[in-house]
Amino acid sequence: VIGTVTSLPQTSISDTLFERAKKVIPGGVNSPVRAFRAVGGSPRFIERAEGAYLIDKDGHALIDYIGSWGPMILGHNHPAVREAISEALAGGTSFGAPNEREVELAELVTRLTKTEKVRFVSSGTEATMSALRLARGVTGRDLIVKFRGNYHGHADGLLVEAGSGLLTNAEHLGAGAPSSAGVPAAYAALTLVVEYNDPEGLDALMQLRGHEIAAVIFEPVVGNAGVLIPTPEFRAALHRVKSHGALLIADEVMTGFRLSLRGACGLLGLQSDLTCWGKIIGGGLPVGAYGGRAELMDFVSPQGPVYQAGTLSGNPLAMAAGLATLRELERDEGLYVRLETYTSALADGLRAAAGEAGVPLQVNQIGSMLTAFFGDGEVSRFAHAAQADTAAFAAWFRGLLERGVYWAPSQFESIFVSGAHGERELESTLSAARAAFALSR
Ligand code: PLP
Repeated sequence: VIGTVTSLPQTSISDTLFERAKKVIPGGVNSPVRAFRAVGGSPRFIERAEGAYLIDKDGHALIDYIGSWGPMILGHNHPAVREAISEALAGGTSFGAPNEREVELAELVTRLTKTEKVRFVSSGTEATMSALRLARGVTGRDLIVKFRGNYHGHADGLLVEAGSGLLTNAEHLGAGAPSSAGVPAAYAALTLVVEYNDPEGLDALMQLRGHEIAAVIFEPVVGNAGVLIPTPEFRAALHRVKSHGALLIADEVMTGFRLSLRGACGLLGLQSDLTCWGKIIGGGLPVGAYGGRAELMDFVSPQGPVYQAGTLSGNPLAMAAGLATLRELERDEGLYVRLETYTSALADGLRAAAGEAGVPLQVNQIGSMLTAFFGDGEVSRFAHAAQADTAAFAAWFRGLLERGVYWAPSQFESIFVSGAHGERELESTLSAARAAFALSR
């Protein structure tokens, strides 16, 4: 029963599966954060998911705050999505030729986001990688700019973080170092890195090298350093990059259809040249997309000279899941307000519980995204987030999990609330959080 666990839950089936997995899958997982390295212990293997809950192989029902890292905004196993997938499935799984659902989803995405043309791919990584190639193809320039602590998938040129001495050595201003083995330094040198929410840093870089820069890619609300919200000054500086002939690329893979039907950009009044999507537009199946004005998108092959392709792009099942999800988001007018109400109550409850327990906590929340940073002081940049007490977070995470609450297993991630989270889940979560704060002191 949620929130009433008094002794450690039995996790023997998950533990056994993890041992088996480690023999045949690197680290036992197919995406690193799932391995619980940052929080200790072994991951739960999931049997099935329903509404706001994951049910693990040992039979525990866990209130899910990951939502598959964003896609499951309607909650798990939503009937409209399930039915749409079943209907598509009956007609075959993949054609390698155009199908009507691609057109329908493209029409829906472009109408809701006020974009002219969109190309579907199969992941967020492919979306950002392709949008950058397009920006380079359009501008004839090689350099790109990203922000420290922003994540845009695992393409080589994007696995780059800030080098030191950003503003002290003009010759290497902003040149990033690879943050993964296997990324050639020569390739990483094409990616310049600026601190998020640092308008002066961005302006300085653009003044010096703006004429060489193809694109500035950014998360319009950061989820991947924990939640960081862009200041009005930073948003203005983002718009100024266009005056240097660089394209502004909004990576809405996480925030698109999450913070509003027009994403974080619509909510915050940001106007990008190109936008990347993923997660929600696939309704839990593998989809990504990039889009923008027709004059830019028509550079993409076969119309234009920028090559990009995919065997499973526009897959009928994935299109069906995305269509059902977006239609439901458009139909349920009160959903975004309900998500905001739940998540801001969660934020308030966490602040109060941490205060009572004497645990320093900074909660950043916008819409259904939230990060509880363990520490003092405002968190608006990656440098602030990096100061968080990760040991206290890990103890709190384990305390939550033992009480049936599945929080994101890293201090530097957002959690995601779904439309299936209600009063009962909120109360259980806050009661588990109160108990878990005692463990993180
Ligand atoms: N961009 C952002 C903002 C993301 O959060 C992610 C994934 O978390 C990606 C890109 C990469 O998407 P994918 O994991 O589907 O390749």
